[in-house]
Amino acid sequence: MIIVMENGASEEQIDGVVKKIKEFGLESNVSRGTERTVIGAIGDERKLDQEMIDALPGVENSMHVVKPYKIVAREWHKENTVVNIKGIPLGGNQIQVIGGPCSVETPEQMELSAKYVKAAGCRLMRGGAFKPRTSPYTFQGKGVEGLDMFRKAADKYGLPIVTELMDVRMLDTFLEYDVDVIQIGTRNMQNFDLLKEVGRINKPVILKRGMSATISEWLMAAEYIAAGGNHNIIFCERGIRTFETYYRNVLDVTAVPVLKKETHLPVIIDPSHAGGKAWMVPALSRAAIAAGADGLLVEMHPNPCEAWCDADQALNPEELKNLMVELKGIAAVLGRSI
Ligand code: PEP
Ligand code: MN
Repeated sequence: MIIVMENGASEEQIDGVVKKIKEFGLESNVSRGTERTVIGAIGDERKLDQEMIDALPGVENSMHVVKPYKIVAREWHKENTVVNIKGIPLGGNQIQVIGGPCSVETPEQMELSAKYVKAAGCRLMRGGAFKPRTSPYTFQGKGVEGLDMFRKAADKYGLPIVTELMDVRMLDTFLEYDVDVIQIGTRNMQNFDLLKEVGRINKPVILKRGMSATISEWLMAAEYIAAGGNHNIIFCERGIRTFETYYRNVLDVTAVPVLKKETHLPVIIDPSHAGGKAWMVPALSRAAIAAGADGLLVEMHPNPCEAWCDADQALNPEELKNLMVELKGIAAVLGRSI
């Protein structure tokens, strides 16, 4: 950390900063200029609380030199991490499209969904059994019964399953049903207790971006999972809140190259919750793949008009199939496969 003292800071104030740095087990280096004294804190600066340093008398400002996240940072891990989901690689050359309904509804709907997801060429399936709904009076998901329906339908077609965990008390049940990828939704990106718990297991985790989260907050949320020992983390950009109301959220495509620079972990995009309309999904998906995303999380329903949740943004089976064909062309230009 670099600490810049105010012009005219006293020797006593400089000593105070040096003493504080020492208290945290770091060394200091004091450099006296003609107008300003600059103090360098040498050692693991993550131990230093920047706000506490800034509050010391005579300190003008301070800045961290290294990133506050460590395990997820590319700085310490140059190679791309490929997350293995029951033998399916996510983060390598092959792009993965995770297709499926917003929510698990009935055994028939799940059976048809799995059939169409497989037929379109997707290797993984999504579906929510526990739904984070804005209103407590709308469909909340089928719960454990939904996990059962999902597991059976997906197993029939050999598709690993991705489903959202909202409550830490359901984690054991998720493990019982051998959920292949645990999704942490937007509304829980900073539910630190939940993040710590999924950090203690070794199941892959899709960490969606909080709807108003900065890139740095998102990386730190992933660091919570990684710090517990689980490094199988996949970032998912799903659109952020802005002043715009035409679409559900604004897809932040910029997050793809930025995350690729900052972290070695895979990055996927959810075009469905970003646009909020099925007709926007193909364009947003094309942009995501062109920007370098490692995969997509796309909502598809056998009969969108009948969907119990997010009907407006679900592709129909034909549209998913066509999208896959289109994306193959874009992937090929980039030297990737789907
Ligand atoms: C979902 O993927 O089902 C979902 C609820 O998404 P988000 O957390 O991005 O709103
Ligand atoms: Mn949805």
